[in-house]
Amino acid sequence: MNAPIKLDRSRLDAALARIPRTHELLIDGRWGAGRGGETIERISPAHGVTVSTYARASEHEADLAISAARSAFDGGPWPRMTAAERSKVLLDVASLIERDAEVIALLDCLESGKPIAQARGEIAGAADIWRYAAALARDLHGESFSTLGPNKLGVVVRDPIGVVSIITPWNFPFLIVSQKLPFALAAGCTAVVKPSELTSASTLYLGKLLLEAGLPAGVVNIIAGTGADVGAAMTSDPRVDMISFTGSTRVGKSAMATAAQTLKKVSMELGGKNPQIVFADADLEAALDAAVFGAYFNAGECCNAGSRLIIQRPLAERFVADLQRKVRDVKVGDPLDEDVRVGAIVTPDHLEKIEGYVAEARAAGAEVKVGGTRLEHESGQFMAPTIVDGVQPQMTIAREEVFGPVLSILTFETADEAVAIANSTDYGLSAGVWSQDFNTCLNVSRGIHAGTVWMNTFMDGASELPFGGYKQSGLGRELGRRAVDDYTEEKTLHFHSGPRTAWWVPRPSET
Ligand code: NDP
Repeated sequence: MNAPIKLDRSRLDAALARIPRTHELLIDGRWGAGRGGETIERISPAHGVTVSTYARASEHEADLAISAARSAFDGGPWPRMTAAERSKVLLDVASLIERDAEVIALLDCLESGKPIAQARGEIAGAADIWRYAAALARDLHGESFSTLGPNKLGVVVRDPIGVVSIITPWNFPFLIVSQKLPFALAAGCTAVVKPSELTSASTLYLGKLLLEAGLPAGVVNIIAGTGADVGAAMTSDPRVDMISFTGSTRVGKSAMATAAQTLKKVSMELGGKNPQIVFADADLEAALDAAVFGAYFNAGECCNAGSRLIIQRPLAERFVADLQRKVRDVKVGDPLDEDVRVGAIVTPDHLEKIEGYVAEARAAGAEVKVGGTRLEHESGQFMAPTIVDGVQPQMTIAREEVFGPVLSILTFETADEAVAIANSTDYGLSAGVWSQDFNTCLNVSRGIHAGTVWMNTFMDGASELPFGGYKQSGLGRELGRRAVDDYTEEKTLHFHSGPRTAWWVPRPSET
């Protein structure tokens, strides 16, 4: 059972002493405050102290940032540099991320409430993505067609799409911007980046590394502000060519509707309600660990969270009993504690929302086996890892993204029934299948409507593998070898050599 959560003040002070505490906006290569001089304060969700103060951007700064990105694209050197030159900058950024990994990890840990050990893993993963994008930059190419006829040659080139608005959420601040920005830069695009107002510090810090790596002024502009004004400007402005958005399905739909007015390209990474299906013949120890990891990693504030555990009926009772024992042992607490696996919940409002989902499930007839309530704590907000049993597919808790450490248990008899339950939500981001029978894994994974299906593992990732959602989990894919192509337009160049057959040849009598 979790001991009462204690904070080590000296550990917090040491962490605060290592990070920058104030952050300005990066527009056209210069750092500055917003015109109104307003700021945003971010309070650590675990410690209740102000971690960061950022200059607050408004529509005015969004306008300046878009102008800078537009000029840097239309007249600047970046889109015209060779792929080798762009690749070199991206590689240098990767090295700088590694150099400053501890500072960046602390910023994300303190602002989002995620455990420090986990944050370090995310920053290492982010550096790897920058390197992968640098490699792809050198391989960006089009196609040629020499089969169109003796005098014809078709060449399809890929041009950078232009100015990209990058909008990111609070749950994986540095990792998610790293799934977008290096690929946009590899293509030769320029960008305006808006992190969540709750976790802007690591993205603003990235701006320093970009300038240090020699990125020309105006190529990347980073503004902290709210979605309602800055985000809205970034999705509506006609000078922006593409939106790359990660966040909730609700806001994603609204951003898409705005972007449609000027027919921008959109890439959307949205919510998930991901199932893990456990068959009776699974490696039970591995499946138990993955069930706990899938549900409580990042306190469940994760688009990929395995928030629905769908267990084959003969196994269910025993599996849930084992699960309860395991969940009670997971260490929840101060995200700065190296051993903690579940940190704080991002805001008090969000904690209330999570508790609301559990209460509603109870009222609908489900049974809370473990947790279900917030944990008392001297500061911040924490939620006990929770198991809700007896969940039916039509219940709200089985259909909506709770985005907290809450695992719903459902059961099935046949593989077809498992697939039907897995597919019974509006989302389709990811899924897990647990069986030692290869045929079961293959057949079930092919039936699931999701962008990623893990078999006998969960939430593994690699820069080489595309990531994105079916249905209302998104539009488009990030990562993978086509990630740079997404930030390009295709242009067809059609050549003709030698005499051309005329369209209109007057008859001799008409001359
Ligand atoms: P939100 O959708 O609330 O916000 C995402 C971003 O959009 C924030 O920067 C927000 O700004 C901004 N925003 C808000 N309103 C607008 C608007 N009108 N126009 C443009 N931008 C706007 O998501 P959360 O930050 O709460 O993040 C959690 C969500 O993200 C979950 O649903 C989760 O599933 C999803 N997610 C998806 C991932 C994926 O890859 N599929 C990965 C990670 C998270 P601000 O909040 O500062 O006002």
